[in-house]
Amino acid sequence: MTTAERPATSPTAPAPLLDVRDLHVVFRTRDGIAHAVNGVSYRVEQGRTLAVLGESGSGKSVTAQAVMGILDTPPGEITSGEIRFHGRDLLTLPEKERRTLRGAQMAMVFQDALSALNPVLSVGDQIAEMFTVHRGMSTRQARERAVELMERVGIPAARERVRQYPHQFSGGMRQRIMIAMALALEPALVIADEPTTALDVTVQAQVMELLAQLQAELNTGLVLITHDLGVVADVADHIAVMYAGRIVESAPVHDLYRAPAHPYTRALLDSIPRLDRKGRSLHAIAGLPPNLTAIPPGCAFHPRCPLARAVCRTDEPPLYEVNSERGSACHFWRETLEGGTGHE
Ligand code: ADP
Ligand code: MG
Repeated sequence: MTTAERPATSPTAPAPLLDVRDLHVVFRTRDGIAHAVNGVSYRVEQGRTLAVLGESGSGKSVTAQAVMGILDTPPGEITSGEIRFHGRDLLTLPEKERRTLRGAQMAMVFQDALSALNPVLSVGDQIAEMFTVHRGMSTRQARERAVELMERVGIPAARERVRQYPHQFSGGMRQRIMIAMALALEPALVIADEPTTALDVTVQAQVMELLAQLQAELNTGLVLITHDLGVVADVADHIAVMYAGRIVESAPVHDLYRAPAHPYTRALLDSIPRLDRKGRSLHAIAGLPPNLTAIPPGCAFHPRCPLARAVCRTDEPPLYEVNSERGSACHFWRETLEGGTGHE
């Protein structure tokens, strides 16, 4: 299970795979201090998928970069919090040990494979390198594993194409190659940051299906970052909704779809195109996300919120416990929850 608000488990329970606690990240820029991540906590267990959802600029990628240890520092800086992986706090780990963890135990799939892959190395050599560096295989053995892996992620004629370069593949095939590399060493945790956003809609579904299938087969813990609520319903167990660097709602996927407990989540759900709403225009959420150098006082969402009242402009809502699996950072979560959505 992957809740954002659960307290520490009993001393006998195994530590969760990933346990992010009260993480704060700032960027020191010429325009001031951008508060990109403002107290994010979430957990991911082995074999489970946590979807992280929110508009562009809400801090999804920065949180992921902090977990992976690839934050752009400076200008970025983790000012407080813990990131525990199998119970060990990664933020106090020497860089050398973190580097060993990356690739072998935790890996990332990016939105844009073309910039993530090395343009001057064949895809086969890039995959094979995972096995020579981390597993000490011979070049020949590693090559063979690369071909197998390319077959496994559905690349036709893998034995021939293993010698080709990234630019010789279509966007969808490149994304499959990046997934192959991320999963090559069967890491316990994969973070996929908008892995299908750059692809055509039909290809998006195939790539997402592949990722979900491999995740299940390998029992990987998966953090799936997306701004597309449509794709998460089928693949995620739990959702964390982010706004202005905070988690504003955390819930099992189906509970959240049935009835959101935060007006921002409701607005996101209402912005999904639905078959039964054909002909109605798709409405985006009115207003803009806040400037992170000047986040509004009280609830950061209040300037855009249809339910906002005086208290919302002054008091920052904590993540209220809706039930043991759910939290909402809305003073009026009860009202919001009762509204439902009809998304079954
Ligand atoms: P998203 O939710 O779209 O993934 P990000 O986590 O990438 O958002 O970014 C959150 C905010 O962090 C950005 O809006 C920006 O203010 C700040 N930020 C991210 N990366 C940088 C950077 N390299 N330099 C300065 N600010 C950054
Ligand atoms: Mg992002």
